[in-house]
Amino acid sequence: MENNPLFNAGTGSALNLLGRIETDAAIMDGRTLRGGAVALLTGIRNPIKAARIVMDETEHVLIAGRPAERLALANGLQKGNRRVPRRVRAWREALNQLKTKKRKGPSEKTLSLFLKHRGDTVGALALDARGNLAAGDSTGGVTLKLPGRVGDSPIIGAGLYADNNSGAATATGLGEQAMRLVISKTACDLMRLQPAPKAARAVIRLATKKVGNGTGIITLDRAGRFGVAHNTRHLCWAVRTMSVSNQQMNGTRN
Ligand code: ASP
Repeated sequence: MENNPLFNAGTGSALNLLGRIETDAAIMDGRTLRGGAVALLTGIRNPIKAARIVMDETEHVLIAGRPAERLALANGLQKGNRRVPRRVRAWREALNQLKTKKRKGPSEKTLSLFLKHRGDTVGALALDARGNLAAGDSTGGVTLKLPGRVGDSPIIGAGLYADNNSGAATATGLGEQAMRLVISKTACDLMRLQPAPKAARAVIRLATKKVGNGTGIITLDRAGRFGVAHNTRHLCWAVRTMSVSNQQMNGTRN
């Protein structure tokens, strides 16, 4: 998905206020609770692979910026992450809207602008035959973010979480909201007692109540049940099991 320019991850990432790419990604192993994450990468083709290197090759959880890029390149990752025309157009349009809105008033307007131009972060969850859960995500973040802004995606507990004793979850949407609710860990905690679909709906209800619209989540529990919920207009998802292959685009609000 990072190589597909359609998604806001890797190639095709959203642009920050200065029109530059800064990507974040993370991965988590539910068996060991080990996680790896990178933030603010500007020139690595597959940030999720860089996150995996942090998890497998270091004692750390999150490495940001130039040092993370150097680590990725030293471990054989390719350079990449070019801007694509669609994102440049979206960035220009958003910048123009921001200029107009700034004249009218501050933050609420900027938030709605983020919501409009945000999107398409990718997240994935997996359960293997031995009961091991895993989660991964990758994003260019939100259009017009300030340089240096880090969203929820590389934050374990916010952008993603996986624990063989509860479940796995990954979030999309306005990262600031997901971080304030530690939403993926919250969903996993609920899955100790509730099936994945119910946990997904519960955290999105909580998000709507506490921080408003702008969040989506996918969940997977130990029994292989999955959930999808969002209070954004769209959320595209797909699932594959031994017996079922299903996908849904432009899911309606729930
Ligand atoms: N959650 C991402 C972020 O805030 C953006 C997204 O999901 O589209 O960085």
